[in-house]
Amino acid sequence: MLSHAGQEYALDEGFVPSTLGELDRAVQACRRCPLWRDATRGVCGEGPKKARLMIVGEQPGDQEDLAGRPFVGPAGGVLDAALTEAGIDRDDVFVTNAVKHFKHEPRGKRRIHKTALVSEVRACRWWLNAERRLVKPKVVVTLGATAALGVLGRKAAVMKERGEAIAQPDGSRVLLTVHPSYLLRLPDEAARVAERGRFVEDLKRARLLL
Ligand code: SF4
Repeated sequence: MLSHAGQEYALDEGFVPSTLGELDRAVQACRRCPLWRDATRGVCGEGPKKARLMIVGEQPGDQEDLAGRPFVGPAGGVLDAALTEAGIDRDDVFVTNAVKHFKHEPRGKRRIHKTALVSEVRACRWWLNAERRLVKPKVVVTLGATAALGVLGRKAAVMKERGEAIAQPDGSRVLLTVHPSYLLRLPDEAARVAERGRFVEDLKRARLLL
């Protein structure tokens, strides 16, 4: 039993959040892995509670950790622009992350992103699955390898499996693509333009499945 804001949560196998608000409050009390210790807060998904499209990223970044909202930093800007180009309104999408707390290490005054361990992604999968059960999206798009692991429960070769609509036991379909931060890191302008085009095509493919 854990508590947050005066409320107690039994984070055992019997606990099933019945609303997104309840899930959010329970995430703030989660101790399933060590990542809660250095983060400001847990950052859950946001969007329509019955969205047909769910987009899953890796984990909150520095700005998301402070704001308490997913995809509000530079990668979120790339995602928003690509969604618009693909004909998708972000307001219609439930946007979340595979890992709910920001994993980072200090470097001077900055907090530098660190990739979550497989064990941490697996621990946090419980919350992602709870979000999927509540929202029941028809299509789930994963951004990067960590998101693919969180959604599929196995390691995936994103570049190889990209383009497939992977059927899920709940009837939804999963499409794998890259994380927007990958596009931001590409050093070459021509590669960035080409990869961004592929990213938009992946999002268009998701829209056609809705
Ligand atoms: S990252 Fe996920 S599993 Fe780990 S403490 Fe946060 S909510 Fe819990």
